[in-house]
Amino acid sequence: MEQTVTPLSLLKSRFGYESFRPLQAEIIDNVLAQQDTLVLMPTGAGKSLCYQLPALLFDGTTLVVSPLIALMKDQVDALNAAGIPAAYINSSLSGAEAQQVQAQVRQGRVKLLYVAPERLALPGFQRFLREIELSLIAIDEAHCISEWGHEFRPDYRNLRQLHEDFPSAPVIALTATATERVRQDIIDQLALQRGKTFLSSFNRENLRYSVLPKQKSWEQLISLLDNHRDQPAIIYCLSRQETEDIAAGLRAKGYEASAYHAGLDSETRRLTQEDFVRDRVPIVVATIAFGMGIDKPDVRLVVHHSLPKSLEGYYQETGRAGRDGLPSECVLFYSYGDKVRQDYFIDRMDDSTEQQNAREKIARMVEYAQLSTCRRRFLLEYFGESWIGGGCGRCDVCLEPREEFDATEVAQKILSAVVRTGERFGTAYVVRVLLGSRDKRILEMGHHQLSVYGIARDWERSELREVIGLLQAKRLLAQGNGDYPTLAVTPEGREFLRRRDTLVLFRPVQSRGAQANRSVPSTDDDYDRRLFEELRTLRRRLADERNLPPYVVFGDASLRHMATIYPRTMEQFAHVRGAGAARLQDYGRQFIDVINAYASAHGVPERSPHAGSQAPVTRTHQATAELLGRGLSVAEIARERGLAETTVISHLERLAGQGVLVDLTHVLPESGKLSEIEEAFNVCGSVQLKPVWEFLETRLSYDELRLARLHLRQEGRIPSGVPS
Ligand code: ADP
Ligand code: MG
Repeated sequence: MEQTVTPLSLLKSRFGYESFRPLQAEIIDNVLAQQDTLVLMPTGAGKSLCYQLPALLFDGTTLVVSPLIALMKDQVDALNAAGIPAAYINSSLSGAEAQQVQAQVRQGRVKLLYVAPERLALPGFQRFLREIELSLIAIDEAHCISEWGHEFRPDYRNLRQLHEDFPSAPVIALTATATERVRQDIIDQLALQRGKTFLSSFNRENLRYSVLPKQKSWEQLISLLDNHRDQPAIIYCLSRQETEDIAAGLRAKGYEASAYHAGLDSETRRLTQEDFVRDRVPIVVATIAFGMGIDKPDVRLVVHHSLPKSLEGYYQETGRAGRDGLPSECVLFYSYGDKVRQDYFIDRMDDSTEQQNAREKIARMVEYAQLSTCRRRFLLEYFGESWIGGGCGRCDVCLEPREEFDATEVAQKILSAVVRTGERFGTAYVVRVLLGSRDKRILEMGHHQLSVYGIARDWERSELREVIGLLQAKRLLAQGNGDYPTLAVTPEGREFLRRRDTLVLFRPVQSRGAQANRSVPSTDDDYDRRLFEELRTLRRRLADERNLPPYVVFGDASLRHMATIYPRTMEQFAHVRGAGAARLQDYGRQFIDVINAYASAHGVPERSPHAGSQAPVTRTHQATAELLGRGLSVAEIARERGLAETTVISHLERLAGQGVLVDLTHVLPESGKLSEIEEAFNVCGSVQLKPVWEFLETRLSYDELRLARLHLRQEGRIPSGVPS
């Protein structure tokens, strides 16, 4: 007798996943009970499954309304690859093709039918819908129904009629837009009052947020891209020209990068998108015009090269990273100058309400950029979610050392300069006065005779700008709202000057050691990078042969899992995450062949049937140890193995923790330094590195300290403490 089919069994057999993500099971139960459902979950949370899986359990067809014709084919291809009968009807099909699809639906051979909203208005299509068994109506990107949303589509208004015409088919509406207004609008417009709403946290666990000062941004960008070598990345810029310049600069350095902006002709834009989605060009340098209409799940890096206008926009754009749930990085380059650039546009706005609004948005954006507390927490609280506990432990503020600095004196100088020049000038002018510039205007105004003229000569221009930004965040300085953004000292600022308070501000550590730590490595999980690359190549070839986007063949999570468990037989392959029965059939053999060839070339031992998940972890550690034994440096091992340097050091720590002795002599700091470090460990203890790092005046990197600690522990010169 056939086993009963449950949502969970289908999840495994068709989609190849082990367990539901948060809320998926509850939502699916609600849909199966034929209740209306509203789903509010962030990008990448797995909303599609909430209607795709029930569609398989209903007798008839599920109609999926989706706004983007460009994406329909990919979505349908992905379902077909998983052995799920799906089809689409849109304007890209000829009349005959559309007829053919309709015939298949009538015969009950299509479980999911994707259409664009405008089709619903066609009488012929309405007749067709009456002829079939309609089980469920899924409305994707449901915020398009709301004028308050940012992507209003008048055709979505037809959906209400659809709901009324087919009262027996429940509706599931899904969106990643969570503002209260849009949400209420969706409920009203679709008459979902009796339905149930599912709202998940908008925290994107797998995204790591960081902000880098926009000094030496070119070098920083290169180092970020090197950390994410060959991985899909989007670099957002403010202007079209910037996208062209950066893309050209990257190409000149041998990176494959394309520019994308609204000024390019539509064919170029289409090709750029396609090249990106199909893994032909990993880097796109774009204005915010890029992203909508791209469902690429494995974007690993999103860089904002310029300051975005609002946190709403920023969160949406960074949301395009890591849809597949794998660790991905979001980096913002910040300089006060970019804020001034935005002010320039804001100053020229006609509508004063709009202008005020824009000023508030950019102020919050600047606040985010200058935070000395957890960035994730700030973002979520901004979007109205409460966050319990301290920091997330994974953004740059939580992860990286920030130093306090005594800003009392420089703050006094800046505030005085603002007061003395009459609170009639903007940042650039005040900075020039502080630096003692021979600017014509300063001389004309007689400001070179002020006592504040040139009193901050020992500071860099960019540093003064940053401090001015920090003083605004501290509300000691305010920027005027007039046509020209003049600086003024707030009442708190005057109080500060009068009372001669001390002021401590935070900034990222400037030392060389911290610089290396600054750009956080993208992932620190253990999988075989070289095998992963080989599997990626195979994936791309298979996808190209079938004219599919590569992620339809297998997602990165599946490839990484393969590069961790080294499945050698079809039976073992069935355990790969995301490998449902259909994919196993279609692609299993080819992947197994590559894995076998790789395994014998690199001496990967056969997996014992009972080996736990520990086994591959140990193997990757051993590979690291072996390279170290051959005299390679940590950097060389990292390069050879495609790992981050910190990961290599973690491997060494883990090995030592398991009692394996590793010879570190050739990777240690020279002996003078080493005894200094030893002393520091003895003074500060060796469990936490930060005190030691500070004791040594931040001259050494954390990596150097970790290696030294490991060595000293092995030698028994410092206590072994808890393994970190
Ligand atoms: P959304 O529409 O919410 O942005 P998607 O439906 O596109 O998200 O899903 C994002 C990714 O998560 C896809 O790659 C999908 O295959 C994957 N996914 C969905 N549900 C699960 C699950 N239960 N386990 C593992 N991966 C899942
Ligand atoms: Mg979606």
